[in-house]
Amino acid sequence: MSEDSTYQTLRGHLAYLRMAAAAEALPGELDHARTHKLGHSAFLARLLEVEVTATEIRRQAGLERFACLPAPWRIDDFDFDAQPSIDKALVHELATLRFLEDATNVLLIGPPGVGKTMLAIGLGRASIEAGYRTYYTTAADLAARCHRAALEGRWATTMRFFAGPRLLIIDEVGYLPLASEAAAALFQVITQRYLKSSVVMTTNLGVGSWGKIFDDPMVAAAMLDRLLHRSVVFNIDGDSYRMRAHRARSENIRKGVRPKAEK
Ligand code: ADP
Ligand code: MG
Repeated sequence: MSEDSTYQTLRGHLAYLRMAAAAEALPGELDHARTHKLGHSAFLARLLEVEVTATEIRRQAGLERFACLPAPWRIDDFDFDAQPSIDKALVHELATLRFLEDATNVLLIGPPGVGKTMLAIGLGRASIEAGYRTYYTTAADLAARCHRAALEGRWATTMRFFAGPRLLIIDEVGYLPLASEAAAALFQVITQRYLKSSVVMTTNLGVGSWGKIFDDPMVAAAMLDRLLHRSVVFNIDGDSYRMRAHRARSENIRKGVRPKAEK
């Protein structure tokens, strides 16, 4: 077989195997191999490296799209000095994602504005970057989606969907009261993931007040039982970060203004 027809066969094989990046890199890599007198294995290693990198980038982009994270926050963006009630070492331990291995849940409890969503999304981002299927939803969206699914006869499919991701983030539990159907959906999602895969949940309600968001206190108790069985809980107190920033700004403005006024 002539060199030209070997080349055409190789292109054909790469196209058949859907190795578009390697196919595109082939002429350049052949030239490189000739110029640098590379052996067969060195050439092949370089060519496959191109395809592996392209696959990896595609996979990351897919995970990223799937996850629906609503903000680009990372754990490193979090200002721990501003929130002394949070155990920084524990957050960094969680960011290693070892907690996903034994399906530990993370519960972030605290008033609005203290960074619960930011930490949840930071863990989500770490999880995506480690290659885990991750999904973000608010409790209200989860409830609405399950409601639609029930009406359209897709309940089982939707439950399977929420069982799938290695990490499921459920944000803002407790801001809105959950109708009994919504509570049942949340309960089923938690139950089917129990001891299998992790949930990161944020809520403004202390564990003792969970009865309030569910019509049925037994459902609340059973759900908490599963969530807390293997879990890391952050009770975050303190001021809203936004309010704090706002106060600091006002303070600076006042400080800036006073010397003038005193003149
Ligand atoms: P929560 O979910 O607790 O209501 P968020 O995570 O939405 O609060 O935080 C509210 C806003 O304040 C966001 O813009 C977030 O980036 C910012 N923020 C809160 N806590 C911190 C922090 N410790 N460091 C940096 N930004 C913070
Ligand atoms: Mg929030």
